Amino acid sequence: MVEPLVDPFQRHITYVRLSVTDRCDFRCGYCMAEQMTFLPKKDLLTLEELERLAGAFVALGVEKIRLTGGEPLVRRNVMRLVRGLGGMLGQGLGELTLTTNGSQLERFADDLYAAGVRRVNVSLDTLDPVTFRRITRWGDFTKVVSGIEAAKRAGLHVKLNAVALKGTNEHEFDRLIAWCGAEGFDLTLIETMPLGEIDEDRTDQYLPLSRVRADLAERWTLTDIPYATGGPARYVRIEETGGRLGFITPLSHNFCESCNRVRVTCTGTMYMCLGQEDAADLRAALRAADDDARLIEAIREGITRKPRGHDFVIDRRRRAPAVGRHMSVTGG
Ligand code: SAM
Ligand code: SF4
Repeated sequence: MVEPLVDPFQRHITYVRLSVTDRCDFRCGYCMAEQMTFLPKKDLLTLEELERLAGAFVALGVEKIRLTGGEPLVRRNVMRLVRGLGGMLGQGLGELTLTTNGSQLERFADDLYAAGVRRVNVSLDTLDPVTFRRITRWGDFTKVVSGIEAAKRAGLHVKLNAVALKGTNEHEFDRLIAWCGAEGFDLTLIETMPLGEIDEDRTDQYLPLSRVRADLAERWTLTDIPYATGGPARYVRIEETGGRLGFITPLSHNFCESCNRVRVTCTGTMYMCLGQEDAADLRAALRAADDDARLIEAIREGITRKPRGHDFVIDRRRRAPAVGRHMSVTGG
């Protein structure tokens, strides 16, 4: 029996978010600067290395892997990796999923299902094509909606993630709730987090979800439910639609006490916390030998350094981001 991964605060680490690329075909204002500099391709782990890394985590008791990025579906030959990881399902791995902007879903939905993926998170902040363009700068709304429909047709369970942005989509939540209810999609609202330099001021974007929830409760009946997906969202059922609505509130409500996850970047750096700089270099361990002993040791050592929690603050006195790296590097 393998020793499970348990951190200094007795939290079992069973969930890995694996970024497969820092590149993206969108330039969402809260995530990236329009002129982003991406990592040199040579620094990236190969698809084979990513698969080996995932296998080591599964051997250590990780049950859930979420592929993310950047945009995971723009990585060349990414389906080779997805199929490889799909082969681990039932062999320790319980769930393989991904977070995507949806731009390539129409092309990949059936293949994802065939590889064993059953749920996808699609990021969509608005149902208005003009606002969508403004938020994503480069995104094509029609393509994303076709992608979401293709995912549904393929049998994938779709959850939409929307970042709550003051003055941008705050009057659209009713519409998103109604649409998701009608389509059978769950919806999660996310607070903006201070990650990486962007072109705008984050304090202008920040909208506390406590306020959003209070406002929604004036028109919808929200019932707290114990539903959990292994992620940090807290859920309510919307009685009028029967749908689920999640709130991810890193700033207004700290969710760290139940944190069960780590993030690994596309260069093999493991961040034990999204909101802290401390990291472990798994690429060196991965490349040091063909067997996984060094790698497993490096993973275990990193977990001993997992901090109690983040310390995000968005305030005007502190202009610099709490964490210098972008979400697209760490993996959302
Ligand atoms: N490109 C994929 C996508 O957009 O779904 C996956 C990566 S993206 C970085 C993952 C999630 O992080 C998206 O839902 C995005 O909206 C969210 N995100 C990006 N930057 C953020 C920030 N500063 N605060 C909160 N959420 C952010
Ligand atoms: Fe790309 Fe996702 Fe970041 Fe938008 S949020 S720029 S889609 S990585």
